Amino acid sequence: MSSLLVDNIGELVTNDPPGGEDGPLGIWRDAALLVEDGQVAWVGPAREAPAADRRVDAEGAAVLPGFVDSHAHLVFAGDRAAEFAARMAGQPYTGGGIRTTVGATRAASDDELRATVRRLRGEAMRQGTTTMEIKSGYGLTVADEARSLAIAAEVSEETTFLGAHVVPAEYADRPDDYVSLVCGPMLAAAAPHARWIDVFCERGAFDADHARAILACGQAVGLGARVHANQLGPGPGVQLGVELGAASVDHCTHLTDADVDALASAGETWVSGFVPTTVATLLPGAEFSTRSPYPDARRLLDAGVTVALATDCNPGSSYTSSMPFCVALAVREMGMTPAEAVWAATAGGARALRRDDVGVLRRGARADLMILDAPSHLHLAYRPGVPLIRQVLHNGVPR
Ligand SMILES: [Zn+2]
Repeated sequence: MSSLLVDNIGELVTNDPPGGEDGPLGIWRDAALLVEDGQVAWVGPAREAPAADRRVDAEGAAVLPGFVDSHAHLVFAGDRAAEFAARMAGQPYTGGGIRTTVGATRAASDDELRATVRRLRGEAMRQGTTTMEIKSGYGLTVADEARSLAIAAEVSEETTFLGAHVVPAEYADRPDDYVSLVCGPMLAAAAPHARWIDVFCERGAFDADHARAILACGQAVGLGARVHANQLGPGPGVQLGVELGAASVDHCTHLTDADVDALASAGETWVSGFVPTTVATLLPGAEFSTRSPYPDARRLLDAGVTVALATDCNPGSSYTSSMPFCVALAVREMGMTPAEAVWAATAGGARALRRDDVGVLRRGARADLMILDAPSHLHLAYRPGVPLIRQVLHNGVPR
């Protein structure tokens, strides 16, 4: 078994507070980290570092857990740059452009879709993303949803069936029939390639009754629930997600006090043992790209809600794969401190995927980490737009 020592770390963010200094990031100074067999085998002061077969010198820089991007739509064809330009010229975003991408995706070959997924996954990895959830949702036929998920599963174990992204044009006047298709043959074809089921619960997409039916049928075959909720306006999505024990409700841009209360008390109704909660996943790339008001992260954090940050990478409303960009937006525009934003983009994303082996650097965790070209995690927000990710290790392997 070969071992790798990452040595001479100026600031090591572990997200494991008991081992390091106070604060949620669990920071060690002048630290080292040993990787064996793709896992973290040891974390501690550099002067006590054990011997190893190989050594990576961090040269005093900061080392962080790799980003956990818990919300991305990578399986699509075409782009919607013209729609973006129109929005920036003053047209509002309504979500209707999804059908444009559905048409292009259905017309694309498997290899074309695979090339896009791999290109974007590689782009994200170079920016520090070591875990990336990938959704279907631009096929919206049995065959196109199944192939979308099969292609996503080639590069990620976190795949999500989003047949309920929008009602496709051919079902526009009979949405009940489309929900039956999603819960029947489409789910049967998708489930072998998926860990999660998601629904776009929004005016113009799926209402509360449809969303409840779709999530319940997915949960019945063992998929975990997630919800696109309260993005374009107030709605039932957040409270529905909490009620059904969803791992995450995503967007959360328009929240009532009752929505915040529901998120703050999520988990209390669960049985004893490991208490999962419903995470509020904020996607500031979407507000940036649609020139919309940002979600109020401060309000959620002050209420005790677990917050994650993710990219929502998709060709319509947020065509970024950059978690550092989302961290910077969250700090500048959403009331988060740099430490809160970094935690939300790493450990928060892991919670949103109900994972305890990523988003954290402690013995036994997956050796997913990044070495910055900077002395501190603060620089991710302090130096926006600058490529600060010097090196990424994924499963202990330099990428
Ligand atoms: Zn989304």
